[in-house]
Amino acid sequence: MNSSNGGPTPKRMKFSQNGDDHYTKVREERLQLPIRPARNRLIHQVQKHNSVIIIGETGSGKTTQIPQFLYEAGLHRNSVIAITQPRTVAAITVSQRVALEKRSDMGDLVIKHVGYRVRFDDTTSERTKIKYMTDGMLLREAISDPLMKRYSIVILDEAHERTIHTDVLFGVVKSAQHQRQEQGMKPLKIIVMSATMDVDHFSKYFNKAPVLYLEGRQFPITVMYTKEEQSDYLFASLVTLFQIHREALPQEDILIFLTGQEEIESAVKSIRDIARNMTGNVPNMLVCPLYAALPSQQQLKVFQPTPKGCRKVIVATNIAETSITVHGIKYVIDSGKVKAKIYNSRGGLDLMKVVHVSQAQAQQRCGRAGRESPGTCYRLYTEQQYEALRKTTVPEIQRCNLASVVLQLTAMGIQDVVNFDFMDKPSSEAILNAIEQLKLLGALENTEEIKLTQTGKQMAEFPLDPRMSKVILSAKHYKCLEEILTIVSLLSVDSVLYTPQSKREHAVAVRQKFMSSEGDHITLLNVFRAYKGVNGNKQWCQENFINMRNMRTVFDVRRQLRDICVRQDLPLNTCGHDTTSIRKCLATGYFMNSAELQKEGEYMSLSTRKTVTIHPSSALFHCKPAYVIYNELVQTTKCYMRDLCVVDADWLYDTAPTYFKKKKPGG
Ligand code: ADP
Ligand code: MG
Repeated sequence: MNSSNGGPTPKRMKFSQNGDDHYTKVREERLQLPIRPARNRLIHQVQKHNSVIIIGETGSGKTTQIPQFLYEAGLHRNSVIAITQPRTVAAITVSQRVALEKRSDMGDLVIKHVGYRVRFDDTTSERTKIKYMTDGMLLREAISDPLMKRYSIVILDEAHERTIHTDVLFGVVKSAQHQRQEQGMKPLKIIVMSATMDVDHFSKYFNKAPVLYLEGRQFPITVMYTKEEQSDYLFASLVTLFQIHREALPQEDILIFLTGQEEIESAVKSIRDIARNMTGNVPNMLVCPLYAALPSQQQLKVFQPTPKGCRKVIVATNIAETSITVHGIKYVIDSGKVKAKIYNSRGGLDLMKVVHVSQAQAQQRCGRAGRESPGTCYRLYTEQQYEALRKTTVPEIQRCNLASVVLQLTAMGIQDVVNFDFMDKPSSEAILNAIEQLKLLGALENTEEIKLTQTGKQMAEFPLDPRMSKVILSAKHYKCLEEILTIVSLLSVDSVLYTPQSKREHAVAVRQKFMSSEGDHITLLNVFRAYKGVNGNKQWCQENFINMRNMRTVFDVRRQLRDICVRQDLPLNTCGHDTTSIRKCLATGYFMNSAELQKEGEYMSLSTRKTVTIHPSSALFHCKPAYVIYNELVQTTKCYMRDLCVVDADWLYDTAPTYFKKKKPGG
């Protein structure tokens, strides 16, 4: 380059594309995945058949690679490939990974071909060709587009998990494929994939679809059982962890399976404390929690390489069983437990409870130890206990409240829900119960024929539990929609209250000023108002232990729900400080989740006549109101009600007189 004014010739500058080395690494990783050699066989099968079932080890590359293969081969036919995931986090992290891989292939100029769509978050555009989404989101789209016209290929991933949404989707995509064929439209290709599953059952259901087995890389794994039954799996997991930690080489990482956020956070704290005080020649420990509600930034930590001379310990829920693969794991500690929804058909309500895993789940957990070299799995239960476990997990659809599913199927125009083509039918009792609940909520006509009411049609438009949507619609009557939108949004995201274990008491004391004797909904509303009052000031958030990121999400969710309300012409009223209206409004959706104080000082749930207790985290923990409604039941040592609100017996009765005639609040 010569400068025109005859000055000295500047030296040529050297540039490198940001993260070049990183891209090379990503490209190489991609080429080395076990799925690679099967690429052409796979493309050929999908070309030839309308439905294909694919089985392959976790980590072989199904989720990240198969959509790219099909896309590269042009099988998307200029339309979109949808890939469903049971978990929001998996949909997001995988889509980000694939976007990175695509970029490493085609450079930064690549237009947005990969995106994700999950509840309240959508990064897709008309340019998106590979769309990762939650199974719930695809089901929601099917309400307005039952033939799935915008897709050429639908991939139902992690099928073995048998989440309620995936199970309903089986029927919905099958019917869409059939109808498209009947009407001479472009075919819909269905791919069902998973790590393990009952292949014959799936193949038969999808019109004898061929099954493709992918070669996996699985090294031998030694399975160890405890000699005696353990009464405290948490304690047993810590003891086992440190036993391994003292003996194993530093670069050998450990994965522990526990059940939920609180348990994992408290285990992580104990592990860090013990590790810090350890003497002798032991490696440093890097402890990473991994659960669905963990902010995605922190989740990505588990993918980062462990520093030299350090041991990574990942404490995870069943999310690490198949949906997220972590490198370097040599040891797995399996508590044998998982948190699951259990359905109480008598009361028609869901209960979250820690239960035993199935043998299939235990095997998946085990498999995580042998991805890169031979490994060991420590089961915190005896061999006899293992033998007594169920072979496979019961599909969620057979143990959940079906109100939401029935509402969505009805909104899709499917009236005969009882005879819907389910792969495994839920009990007709559960379906009838759901219909009954929807009638009580005013979503279905009170007739033999299953028909949505105007309210029901409106309810189906919200990506929420029917009870929650009902509350939003009732707000018109109580003139408090602004407040209700805030509360619903706060309950729809991960907690805005951030309570570090080490400062628990302090955090609770500081937040005392928000506490309302009317319950948790009003308390949350107070937090939100205070946050708005200081314009989301960062220091204020720190001082009050408010999670700012989640608070921002609340605003985002609120805006989206508000948009739906505006579309439905709902009046955006505010009731100011008249919290009674708000509580009455909440009762119109949650009257079925109500409990009455008994003489002995315990509560009894009005639907199931079961003893229930106020959760220690509730604003009402030290109060004894006569009647409460709650959002959820969690069974640990006791059956706890969470997210409570104080109500009057009269309100419950007035909302659903027929329902309470049998159960009689106050009587
Ligand atoms: P499968 O669906 O067969 O279980 P995946 O396609 O999810 O396998 O993963 C293939 C590989 O890509 C795995 O080895 C996994 O560790 C890696 N991988 C996936 N997501 C990420 C990520 N966000 N960061 C780094 N590596 C990832
Ligand atoms: Mg996968």
